[in-house]
Amino acid sequence: MKTDKEFFEYGSQKINYQILFVERKTMEIAVHPDAKVIVRAPVKATLDQIKSKVTKRARWIHKQLDYFSRFEPRTPPRAYISGETHFYLGRQYRLKVEKGSQDSVKLSRGLFLVTSNKGIDPAVIKGLLDEWCCLKATEIFNKCLDDCIERLKKMNFKKPKLRINRLKKRWGSLSKSGALNLNIDLIRAPRESIEYVVTHELCHLKFHNHGPEYYKLLDRIMPDWPARKHRLEFMLA
Ligand SMILES: [Zn+2]
Repeated sequence: MKTDKEFFEYGSQKINYQILFVERKTMEIAVHPDAKVIVRAPVKATLDQIKSKVTKRARWIHKQLDYFSRFEPRTPPRAYISGETHFYLGRQYRLKVEKGSQDSVKLSRGLFLVTSNKGIDPAVIKGLLDEWCCLKATEIFNKCLDDCIERLKKMNFKKPKLRINRLKKRWGSLSKSGALNLNIDLIRAPRESIEYVVTHELCHLKFHNHGPEYYKLLDRIMPDWPARKHRLEFMLA
């Protein structure tokens, strides 16, 4: 299949799109949740025809991109001072920082209690919290992955290698080598939503795109995935 990469300008923004030349009579423009803009054009369409169609739909394309960008993972800036709200596994906790005899992070009765012997310097508190979240993420994400693999047992899925990163634009992804990357910020999400992200990516081991077969599989394995996805997007957006 012949493909082509183009872009257009919308205000000060440069918007890239991909053209796929396929056996079809009319042109179709689709904006995907991962911010990809795909134009499916008849094999005989000229570049001028395609460009003119894209220009006509520019406003709509921009609007779609804007809509999807609302669901990108976003961690609001934190000051790491007492009284601030932090999410952990879908619950809100109030941060309490204290100077103490040793460094520790504890969750108790709605409080994230962070104690440091170096005082309550926000950089120190952030370091302690990040380290704690990283440990928890490793433990919990691995457990979620095991549970999700268990659901897929009949389909002979091999457990992929898990990598935990700070991903800028996504909650999870599958690398070309088949490793599962999860965004460490997912630790803020409810466990059911973490399982959704894991299952979504695992299904890509069978189907790489988001075609009807992909969704058939996802529906079968996790029928309530839309609710889990919704919770993730609206809670953490
Ligand atoms: Zn996907």
